[in-house]
Amino acid sequence: MSQSQSPHYGPATLAIHGQQQRDAFGSPHMPIYDTTTFAFPDTAALLEVAEGRRRGPLYSRYGHNPTIFALEETLAALEGAEAAWAFSSGMAAISTLFLSHGRRGIACLGEVYGGTLGLLEQQLPELGIETHFMLEGYAPDALERLLASGIGLVYLETPTNPTLRLIDIAAVAEQAHRHGALVAVDGTFATPINQRPLALGADLVVHSATKYLGGHSDLTAGAVMGSAELLAPLWRWRQNLGSVLSPQVASLLSRSLRTLPLRMQRHNASAQSLAEALREHPAIERVLYPGLDSHPGHALAQRQMSGFGGMLTLEITGGRDAATGVADRLELFTLAPSLGGAESLVTQPCTTSHAELTAEARQRRGITDSMLRLSIGLEDVEDLLNDLKRALAPLESGRC
Ligand code: PLP
Repeated sequence: MSQSQSPHYGPATLAIHGQQQRDAFGSPHMPIYDTTTFAFPDTAALLEVAEGRRRGPLYSRYGHNPTIFALEETLAALEGAEAAWAFSSGMAAISTLFLSHGRRGIACLGEVYGGTLGLLEQQLPELGIETHFMLEGYAPDALERLLASGIGLVYLETPTNPTLRLIDIAAVAEQAHRHGALVAVDGTFATPINQRPLALGADLVVHSATKYLGGHSDLTAGAVMGSAELLAPLWRWRQNLGSVLSPQVASLLSRSLRTLPLRMQRHNASAQSLAEALREHPAIERVLYPGLDSHPGHALAQRQMSGFGGMLTLEITGGRDAATGVADRLELFTLAPSLGGAESLVTQPCTTSHAELTAEARQRRGITDSMLRLSIGLEDVEDLLNDLKRALAPLESGRC
């Protein structure tokens, strides 16, 4: 069921009933069709599916497998999209999106995930695809010049990693569409529960389902959602690059999606309460969280998000070593890259995601060495707060 077919259902209902079909035995959720191919009674029946006149199981690498279909129906319903394709990772989804719709050139607004940046800076130009970067985020005049030169795709993340800056999706879409360009948004940090880019005017949404959609740090997957027309070329690339996900992972992800709205409520509430509790802490210079009224993008967040997310960035008093000390003293927050799982994680961007950049390049992106990025998990929020306070305490007493 796509959202356009059932606009009256809320996200919690769609997460459970988004799948359109039951299997022949009436299983309440689609079982794992652990099979690579599907048999047909005769050639006419095979051709009907192979030639696209009827949607049905055919060959699992094509994504023509009931378990994958069921996942894609739920993904589309949650995002309010006509269709969705599932991929073996977020990067598989993003690279396929660029190969399908980036040929006329790509304008990348603001900070994006390191793998995406690598593709845009290195691999795509090697294929002759023009890429442009607007580090400052959305600058209408600069974007206008690029669009006027014929750029075909505007790409952005919001909120961004790790500074949690926001970009106005509706404004970008309105400007891009005046020039016939498409807008694609990486919605990984927000999830469709907190932000629906298609409803705001974007044409395509891409996710690393490895994060909140999977939600348990136990699967790697990706997805692209949009209109059937815009998704059609991605399907061919996915088929021939072989970047579909397995039925086993599709089933695990479908199961995770059923609790996505519940989990996001908890991620949102815990991150908000930690942000509020820590904003006046003497060992913290700044708390970056879109749900705080001190955040420069708060008004925009209120307009374009229905929840402010589970990601929180702290700037620790005392610089790089002081922040490293806090990360190392935390007990409940595991020191690990990634985000969106049930367990809370901490990273220091200057030693992990942005370690390859010079300090000056990080500075230009607003990323300081004293930043800690927290992925707030599903633990009791009081325990998380106590863990943070304990790890910060030596800085207060000047012992570090
Ligand atoms: N997009 C964002 C915002 C990410 O944070 C990541 C990974 O961290 C990706 C895309 C890539 O996802 P994956 O690791 O599933 O390929």
